Amino acid sequence: AARAPPRLLQFKLVLLGESAVGKSSLVLRFVKDQFDDYRESTIGAAFLTQTVSLDESTTVKFEIWDTAGQERYKSLAPMYYRNANCAVVVYDITQPSSLEKAKAWIRELQRQADPNIIIALAGNKADLASRRAVPSEEAQAYASEENLLFLETSAKDNANVSELFTMIARKLPLES
Ligand code: GDP
Repeated sequence: AARAPPRLLQFKLVLLGESAVGKSSLVLRFVKDQFDDYRESTIGAAFLTQTVSLDESTTVKFEIWDTAGQERYKSLAPMYYRNANCAVVVYDITQPSSLEKAKAWIRELQRQADPNIIIALAGNKADLASRRAVPSEEAQAYASEENLLFLETSAKDNANVSELFTMIARKLPLES
């Protein structure tokens, strides 16, 4: 019998987190497999797409919204996470204040975003192990309590980046 044609399911994903934690770098790594030590901060919102093949019959296409200047333009954030199917909230493992900022974003998503939104917490810059200031156990415990996906990533070393997006893809409602 002929195999059913593969399904291409599209989902909107938004990145949130303190400035300079590596949101754009994670997207650049995931979408283009590149890293830039001296990249300029994103101005405005960048929109990129990338697909994840889950199996022979299912491909997930992420429409990725990397928001910039969230600190200055915080009132615009709801525009980005409204209608988002998933959110990646990023902190920097060398900056405890960035985890606090991530928690604030997560609380806001839990109150204001679609109740079915899938939220992943990403502890980025995991390559900077000697400067680690947030124990993985602490972030993992918080993520478990709040029912979030969690991974430590490095956009620089390409560690756990595709894994992060694949983990999210596997949680999405694929039976539609
Ligand atoms: P954003 O403001 O959250 O989008 O952060 P950027 O992607 O602009 O990154 C901010 C800075 O951190 C840049 O200098 C990046 O090169 C650097 N950076 C991003 N990801 C990593 C990482 O995984 N490891 C290290 N060591 N540096 C990173």
